[in-house]
Amino acid sequence: PATPPNLGFTLRNLRDPNIFMDTGDQRTQNIKNEARRLGFSLVGLTSSEAPAHLDVFASWLDAGHHAEMAWMSTNRARECRANPQLILPECKTILVLGFAYAPSPPTPLPVREGRRGEGKIASYAQRQDYHDVLPPRLSALAEYIEAQCGHSIPHRWYTDTGPILERELAQRAGLGWIGKNSNLITPKAGSYFLLAEILLGVELPLDAPFISDHCGSCTRCVDACPTACILPNRTIDANRCISYLTIEHNGFIPLELRPKLGDWIFGCDICQQVCPWNQKFATPALYPHRLQSGQDQEWGATELILSPQEFNQKFEGTPIRRAKRRGYLRNVAITLGNLGNSQAVPGLTHALHDDEPLVRGHAAWALGQIGGEVAIAALSEAAQRENHPDVRGEIQSALAAQ
Ligand code: SF4
Repeated sequence: PATPPNLGFTLRNLRDPNIFMDTGDQRTQNIKNEARRLGFSLVGLTSSEAPAHLDVFASWLDAGHHAEMAWMSTNRARECRANPQLILPECKTILVLGFAYAPSPPTPLPVREGRRGEGKIASYAQRQDYHDVLPPRLSALAEYIEAQCGHSIPHRWYTDTGPILERELAQRAGLGWIGKNSNLITPKAGSYFLLAEILLGVELPLDAPFISDHCGSCTRCVDACPTACILPNRTIDANRCISYLTIEHNGFIPLELRPKLGDWIFGCDICQQVCPWNQKFATPALYPHRLQSGQDQEWGATELILSPQEFNQKFEGTPIRRAKRRGYLRNVAITLGNLGNSQAVPGLTHALHDDEPLVRGHAAWALGQIGGEVAIAALSEAAQRENHPDVRGEIQSALAAQ
């Protein structure tokens, strides 16, 4: 069995899941082999039946744990999750795929340790945008399946872009279990996977669901999360999740959460970094980095002078474009405030003149965190000319805290 050492807890119901053992006929094995050739380390087949845990997801939505991601809770999205045939009427089988993106080598603990003055970008976002990387492979795989079947097949593929419960389908296709951190975890491969699905209008032999839970008594992810966003039922409260706040959230970050963001500029990997299954088995990515931190790339105050054109150019083809310039600079300002390095004061002072109130407001907060005569002078000067009510409030709070 795939048992990492020194877990500190007892594994229950451990079976050798051997996800790479193919089931089904020669045609199905050919399809799985082709999927692996195209870079999908995880491959499994499940039915088009409704997911068994729809009620958990509905309760999660009803509790507002999806925050401002309103597209998740539309009636259409709810209906499609319950019935994939509303997406593809001919759907009989769903091919579920996992594409590895783990850092190589996996980031070691302690997770909060970073170079002073440097922020962190989530592993997947340091690479080419998976919305560009995966579609050609999914399209090629669908063509291969048609060739194997000898005729065209109705199909539709997604990679986190459609209203289906990806992780539950992956569990049902035998790819792993849903851990306490809400990620799909595969015993021999960890959880650093991008999931994708191809809905197929053809019947293929299904894989057995993955039915055991290998989290045991471990609570490392729950204990490590700075914002305590991991809920007891293996879901996440997005309102508090660093990934949500730094990527999907459009507005001002709640004051009480800003210090908890630490030095994460875009996304967060903490609940995956601490997971023993990743520390032992994380599957390195097969596609290259687009961004490099270190000598040739600073993720610090210099980012605050990026013009819109420079931002677009720098992050072309990466997931970071998702946050838009104003969200990214907001996050940079928070990181600089949390790092408390006075060398960031000139960059933050520059950001007090930014066109975006979101950037000016968080730069003011960061200057208040760093403090000192130069920061206070910059805040006082900004207080004289700032007209936006939210930014004025940030400046006044920052000055009052000195
Ligand atoms: Fe499960 Fe979390 Fe422990 Fe990983 S870190 S084994 S997800 S409890």
